Amino acid sequence: MTTAKRESRPSDALLLVNVGQLLTLCAGSTKSGPRRASDQKELGIIVDGAVLCLGGKIISVGTTKEALRDPWLRKNRRKVIEIDCGGKMVLPGFVDSHTHPVFVGPRLVDFEKRIEGASYEEIAAAGGGIRSSLEPVRKTSKGALARKVATVLQEMAAHGTTTVEAKSGYGLTVESELKSLEAIQGAASAWPGTVIATLLGAHVVPKEFQGCSQKYVEIVCKEMIPRAARRKLAQFVDVFCDRAAFTSTETEQIFEAAVKHGLSVRAHMGQLSETALSPFLRFNPASFDHMDHVNEDDISQLAKHDTIATLVPGANYFLGLKEYPDARRLIDAGVPVALATDYNPGTSPTISMPMAMSLACTHMKMSPAEAIAAATINGAWALRVADNKGSIEPGKDADLTIFAVRDYREIPYWFGANHCAATVLNGVLTPK
Ligand SMILES: [Zn+2]
Repeated sequence: MTTAKRESRPSDALLLVNVGQLLTLCAGSTKSGPRRASDQKELGIIVDGAVLCLGGKIISVGTTKEALRDPWLRKNRRKVIEIDCGGKMVLPGFVDSHTHPVFVGPRLVDFEKRIEGASYEEIAAAGGGIRSSLEPVRKTSKGALARKVATVLQEMAAHGTTTVEAKSGYGLTVESELKSLEAIQGAASAWPGTVIATLLGAHVVPKEFQGCSQKYVEIVCKEMIPRAARRKLAQFVDVFCDRAAFTSTETEQIFEAAVKHGLSVRAHMGQLSETALSPFLRFNPASFDHMDHVNEDDISQLAKHDTIATLVPGANYFLGLKEYPDARRLIDAGVPVALATDYNPGTSPTISMPMAMSLACTHMKMSPAEAIAAATINGAWALRVADNKGSIEPGKDADLTIFAVRDYREIPYWFGANHCAATVLNGVLTPK
């Protein structure tokens, strides 16, 4: 690859040529909306492709031959940074639509306890789990948290991710949740990629409110949500709705407060136990995440909505579970499926979207093509940014990733390796 060794500027014109397989993810069908059923495996492949980007946007997409004939390019070629991909492949930057990056340290005691046989809920009952991450976050400064998030964003980009959803949720006081969102905002402002922030004040009921969760829900609804919304610190509100966290009634209360303050909603659903999903559809949630346990009636409802089922197999892998979400049942029924890392210190300490894709193929029987659409365009739908992200089309943001492989199936195939050669984030070329 003949390319500048430095990071480019967003204003630079970038031309990628000789792309072996260019995965545009443009839909072959005329149907709009997230990819579902058989459309989820349409990758829109151009062989020997080229992409021209200018001012952070994609200007044209086609074959290398077509690109080199472009009159604007012929006139301005000397001003363009040209990247000869030499047969490597290019696809849209991954959209990691579910991460928890604001924490201080790894949870190594939990890791060992689990190996010795303790369950998720037993670890939580013994003072481990989410609650053990709270004190360090409450005590750490905003600047230090922002530096941690910034490091993670850079690592993610080095693995091909260009858009990240980042949740708070390890503070669980008004001050520490707002501080966590500010840390996300601070890290995002220094990163050329795109960050979508989510308030997850309803991650778990903190110890101080055990036995009186309603009091905590009121704090989330009456203080956290209004303050985060007023200061534009979050686009989404998330709730961990499950037997170890918040009830359906509490989740509805929190969703009502979010909508009242102009924020969109998403939720952790069905990780540990089944929850009826249909009552929540009136809030038009962007996604239901995890979905290990889901019933047939809800699946047929979801097939009629644009709410995405975001599957996070990294959590099942790391918890050593034998069961994974039934992606086949969801996709075959017409539910749009996205994949995400669920990056967090307790259950999924990975930043690698290719790892999530590999697990989706080997443990959830998704095809490599379905996994790629789930990690790009459907991730963009899960964050409501599909107008600008998730596919390589003129007018969309210049978010691309270059992989040093010849065939897209190699991305989930070489598990545990990082074959990302470079990433373009909003037009900024970042060599690995
Ligand atoms: Zn999560």
